[in-house]
Amino acid sequence: MKVPLLDLKPQYLALKTELDEALLRVAASQMFILGPEVAALEQEMAAYCGARHGIGVSSGTDALLVALMAMEVGQGDEVVTSPYTFFATGGTIARLGATPVFVDIDPYSYNLDLAQLESFLTGSCESRDGVLFNRKTGRRIKAVMPVHLYGQAVDMDALLGMVRRYCVYVVEDAAQAIGSEVDGGRRVGALGDVGCFSFFPTKNLGGFGDGGLCTTNDDRLAARIRQLRVHGMEPKYYHALVGGNFRLDEIQAAVLRVKLRHLDAWHAARQLNADFYDQAFHEAGLDQVVITPARHTGYRHIYNQYVIRVPERDALRRHLGEQGIGTEVYYPVPLHMQECFTYLGYRPEDCPESARAAAETLALPIFPELETAQRQYVVDMIRDFFRKG
Ligand SMILES: *Cc1c(COP(=O)(O)O)cnc(C)c1O
Repeated sequence: MKVPLLDLKPQYLALKTELDEALLRVAASQMFILGPEVAALEQEMAAYCGARHGIGVSSGTDALLVALMAMEVGQGDEVVTSPYTFFATGGTIARLGATPVFVDIDPYSYNLDLAQLESFLTGSCESRDGVLFNRKTGRRIKAVMPVHLYGQAVDMDALLGMVRRYCVYVVEDAAQAIGSEVDGGRRVGALGDVGCFSFFPTKNLGGFGDGGLCTTNDDRLAARIRQLRVHGMEPKYYHALVGGNFRLDEIQAAVLRVKLRHLDAWHAARQLNADFYDQAFHEAGLDQVVITPARHTGYRHIYNQYVIRVPERDALRRHLGEQGIGTEVYYPVPLHMQECFTYLGYRPEDCPESARAAAETLALPIFPELETAQRQYVVDMIRDFFRKG
């Protein structure tokens, strides 16, 4: 049996008529960039996330970049984030000349460890009239960027409670977490100052190429992001700001609008797969060796990835590969250990939980169209691996 980590073809075949019609609609219009499809997607995404504004952009990376640009993050600023994430989270901070500051993760949720965040903010920083400075470097803490990793929301009430005492922005990296909720059904992306989403094809809502979107409840930030998206231009050919080309294509928006209507059904199918795995590992007596994803009461996890923690991760991965099962390691090298960030001076042991997660975690197939026999096969092959010992 073959079980790929992700197979997008069944999703396309199920929606082929609708998707092909959307593509042809754009072809007939010959409007390719920032047209009616993008405007409609922005409204629909804002409504979906419970945010006032949606601004379509060229990728999830550019969503992060333009959000930080709108906050005037740059040289002399620091942005606090997690080292256990996709590169773009830290890369966008550094590209603007600001300094990423890494706070380690909580080993159960793999999200920012909020106790360590609080001790950094209160112990290593000082507030001057609400403006927060890192005592050691003298630089300003301009923003905190939590990542809702794998589709599991960060406890935003606790985080905002720590950060809102200061003039510090909160940028949610919600690239993997569209539709994720904290308790009370409140969706990510509408909780901090700006939420950043990715429509990369492997995300729960994926386009036919690159795309992204910013959400915000802040009218001023929304207007700035809109302006920065088109080279800071407003009105035409007048530039009060230096922006970039962060525009979203009509073809992507048309595809995404079709898929958005099915997103909650796909989330539900992923959750059923996760329930199955949780239960099956338990029944196989693997509780001690296979650590399944944490569940927070009242939260909605959308399982962009289903990530287990296991001893002998690399050997297990090899074994599953030999049995025709696709897996992936998100992420083998945490950001504080990346070569390009050597200049920041971190040692591996500065964020030990991130280093440990990088060595022990493995993503299993979780996509909505996974068949019952395929899920069972994944569990059986993992059980065989640990039985053979
Ligand atoms: C995918 C992803 C991004 C970047 O999104 P792109 O659309 O690929 O640019 C940023 N952060 C996280 C956590 C991601 O998973």
